[in-house]
Amino acid sequence: MDLTKIRKDFPILSREIYGKPLVYFDNGATTQKPRCVVDAIVEEYYSVNANVHRGVHFLSQQATELHESSRETVRQFINARSTNEIIFTRGTTEAINLLAFCFGEEFMKEGDEVIISTMEHHSNIVPWQLLAARKGISIKVIPMNDKGELLLDEYENLFSDRTKIVSMTHISNVLGTINPIKEMIATAHAHGVPVLVDGAQSVPHLKIDVQELDADFFAFSAHKVYGPTGIGVLYGKEEWLNKLPPYQGGGEMIQSVSFEKTTFNELPFKFEAGTPDYIGTTGLAKALDYISAIGFDQIMEHDRELTTYAMHRLKEIEGMRILGEAEHKSSVISFLVGNIHHFDMGTLLDRLGIAVRTGHHCAEPLMRRLGIEGTVRASFGLYNTKQEIDSLVAGIERVRKMF
Ligand code: PLP
Repeated sequence: MDLTKIRKDFPILSREIYGKPLVYFDNGATTQKPRCVVDAIVEEYYSVNANVHRGVHFLSQQATELHESSRETVRQFINARSTNEIIFTRGTTEAINLLAFCFGEEFMKEGDEVIISTMEHHSNIVPWQLLAARKGISIKVIPMNDKGELLLDEYENLFSDRTKIVSMTHISNVLGTINPIKEMIATAHAHGVPVLVDGAQSVPHLKIDVQELDADFFAFSAHKVYGPTGIGVLYGKEEWLNKLPPYQGGGEMIQSVSFEKTTFNELPFKFEAGTPDYIGTTGLAKALDYISAIGFDQIMEHDRELTTYAMHRLKEIEGMRILGEAEHKSSVISFLVGNIHHFDMGTLLDRLGIAVRTGHHCAEPLMRRLGIEGTVRASFGLYNTKQEIDSLVAGIERVRKMF
């Protein structure tokens, strides 16, 4: 991977923060954007912009073509069977809310169960709790060991004849654990239960093939994969999506409306009420093209190298405690050093130009399981380097000596 060339694609990386070169290690929260993504967005606003799907005029048709070709790019990227299976949402959070709502409406009643895991982001906990409050369903949680690996035997034991869906993360945004999702989907299917995969952290790092995984639903956000904010995807197998009721009502999602009765549009539009973020979808497609051109073999190799190097270097630091040492681990590293509060560490690293995230990372139940309040988290992207990891290690040492 030509890192010098890649870094040039991201103008923000040449910024200085407090007079120091920016070291951006907050990719788990959001990634930076390559120039081609921003250019595509600007270009569409300047020369194509018109509302999609409803216009007979040239610009509207051109905007519609761009929007729908972006759907095809997403389809190819995750290897869905059909563009009918690609629903545009505002992001992972909205995708999970959509599914929890629609699936819950159609298939769940009081006493039914959803299985989630200990390491879920709040966005894969709270929508199910809202459903629990509305319908009286219950939530079962897959436990994990101290390394941050889910206990698969316990997972198997959670299934009952009331289990209606499994909803779980592919990669933990705190521990970096890569869950054996294919195996876990097969287990659920053996019990006749569908699975929603939260792919927010996996799409930037792993080659996703929804057919190979046999995922029933798969959610991700563009902004975590070098695309724009405010746009994301819910993939769903067509046979499932056809059985679900709509999520929101409005334009686009209808076939015909009278005051007495409305009939709904076909897939994927049934789930896309209102004017879609058709400029966002162009940005998303550009981002996916960008990382596809680099290639996942290279991205995964780069991730592995950075993670191995960072784990090795960080462990040399006195008082270092790494949270999450799963055998299969992505490039997300959470840590604490001695008694230094995560917030102090993050604030002082920031003064050295190093952007890390601190806090509970929207995973408070996981923090409780770990017996801590928060961590410092460094998460890597395709433009990060070993020299930047050296800067992080030197920065932590400096902070440690201050305390
Ligand atoms: N799921 C995981 C595992 C995440 O890491 C995040 C964001 O950090 C989300 C869901 C929510 O993503 P978004 O805020 O883009 O909807």
